[in-house]
Amino acid sequence: MTIERRIVVGLEDVTYIIFQCEKCPFRMSMSPDEIRQIPENCSGCGHNWIVGEQEGSALPPLKAFTKSLEKLRLLIRHKSFGFKILFEFEEPKDR
Ligand SMILES: [Zn+2]
Repeated sequence: MTIERRIVVGLEDVTYIIFQCEKCPFRMSMSPDEIRQIPENCSGCGHNWIVGEQEGSALPPLKAFTKSLEKLRLLIRHKSFGFKILFEFEEPKDR
């Protein structure tokens, strides 16, 4: 018998959004309810975090995502939906 375990997390359960640099271990954590400004450069190594901004395509969807996240969490708290928004993850493999 094979048993697979999954981790299911509700949108309201998210405590932090973590932005992690692609070039170094630097991370920045923000509350999903208060994402105001996403830095354009890594504070650890200076790497440009908004790489595709030259085409004007990278920042708008990121801002729309963080804004939607904030609004959806508020609506969930006010019971505006008759359903939950859940994310499912595979349980981490044994190390
Ligand atoms: Zn960095």
